[in-house]
Amino acid sequence: MRELVVLGTASQAPTRRRNHNGYLLRWDDEVILFDPGEGSQRQMLHTGVTATDLTRICVTHFHGDHCLGLPGMIQRLSLDRVPHPVAVHFPAGGADYFARLRHASSFHETAELAVEPIDADGQRIALGIGTLEARRLRHPVETYGYRLVEPDGCRLLPERLSAYGIAGPAVGQLLREGHLDLGGRRVDRDEVSVTRPGQRFAFVMDTGLCDGVYALAEHADLLVIESTFLASEAALAAEVGHLTAGQAARVAAESGVRTLVLTHFSQRYADPRRFHDEAREHFAGELVIAEDLETVPVPPRRVPSPE
Ligand SMILES: [Zn+2]
Repeated sequence: MRELVVLGTASQAPTRRRNHNGYLLRWDDEVILFDPGEGSQRQMLHTGVTATDLTRICVTHFHGDHCLGLPGMIQRLSLDRVPHPVAVHFPAGGADYFARLRHASSFHETAELAVEPIDADGQRIALGIGTLEARRLRHPVETYGYRLVEPDGCRLLPERLSAYGIAGPAVGQLLREGHLDLGGRRVDRDEVSVTRPGQRFAFVMDTGLCDGVYALAEHADLLVIESTFLASEAALAAEVGHLTAGQAARVAAESGVRTLVLTHFSQRYADPRRFHDEAREHFAGELVIAEDLETVPVPPRRVPSPE
């Protein structure tokens, strides 16, 4: 199962219909919580994801709307006696904030946190499902966006295998060694398989336009990106280190993104349709103006092209 579960979509201050930020990524056996703002614990309750499901927490930066849900979430891990270590990533420069949030109040700590701060642009963390990569973003405080990159795989073509008469243990040997000798004829793996394109997820927030935004968005199957403002506030957005819906959509279009999720909306705009209309002028793919408690599937794999 690969999907995004949206916990909250408001920047800065929550509204009647939008909780503070918070996002869950379910990706095979990883369940990653991104930027838990206030109220994330209760929002999670509505999604069916439990504290025990969590494997990892990623924080982009230490502004309150992205991290004030940490104390409750961290204490909940212990309350529920989560048996496995939960990895935590955040900008290393914010280590003092993290230490205070982690021990914001008294609790009986039983859960294990595997704390691995990000201290370099391009830092990579190897996961069973691929690579988690952090890229520096442009915001008044140290901020990193994240992307998850699954390596390309290989899909065997049964009709080609049977045309060569390859079956049983020979298939395993072909996969392991990359070729198979068949009565004087060598069959390469490429002749009986196609590339299975790896999938990519990117999480970009909060930032003005910069190289890191493009590096993260590149060929993302699913891009979650902040869209705090509309073009009418472009000057303000640039000044305070945020994106407009139009900018986010142009990044997505130029980067070959398939599903674009806009979120982190300023409370000044009452009608979410305006974000849709502005983004649609630049991006023709699947477009989601995120709502709280919405689930967005990672689109099916790109179709591999036979060789
Ligand atoms: Zn924010």
